[in-house]
Amino acid sequence: MLAEIERLRTAEGDAMTYKAGMENVAQQRDQLKAENKKFDEGMRSMACSLGAGGYNAETLTADQLVDKVQWGLTNLADSSAMLLDKVRAERDQLFGMTEQLKAENDALRKLAIELRGAAKCYNLHHCKAEQHGISEPCKVLARIDAAMAK
Ligand SMILES: [Zn+2]
Repeated sequence: MLAEIERLRTAEGDAMTYKAGMENVAQQRDQLKAENKKFDEGMRSMACSLGAGGYNAETLTADQLVDKVQWGLTNLADSSAMLLDKVRAERDQLFGMTEQLKAENDALRKLAIELRGAAKCYNLHHCKAEQHGISEPCKVLARIDAAMAK
């Protein structure tokens, strides 16, 4: 009789331990399911942001989702590299144009200095507003000198 009571008590104890264990497992399963759902949503959002098609398909395996994100990252890296090459080429072209403009500007400045050297009040055609007395400094030459000083 005592042995029977002890056996039943132990069996009950085992059943309770088993039940608690199963509840714990179920709780962990639910937690993992929730984390997996978040992960799935995050990966789909990333695939969407990266422009990978089919990210919202009803069923996607983890491998398929990773492939889509990987494709998106590769695509982004490629397009960024192409964009960077384009920007560098434009920069180089602009630099070349700047050098050309500098050379043209230098040539024009040289020419202006040469012309200024030959310019005298008496060989300039003055407009009526620019007329000045013989003793006054030439207004046209003063304007040319001011412009060349810049
Ligand atoms: Zn003058």
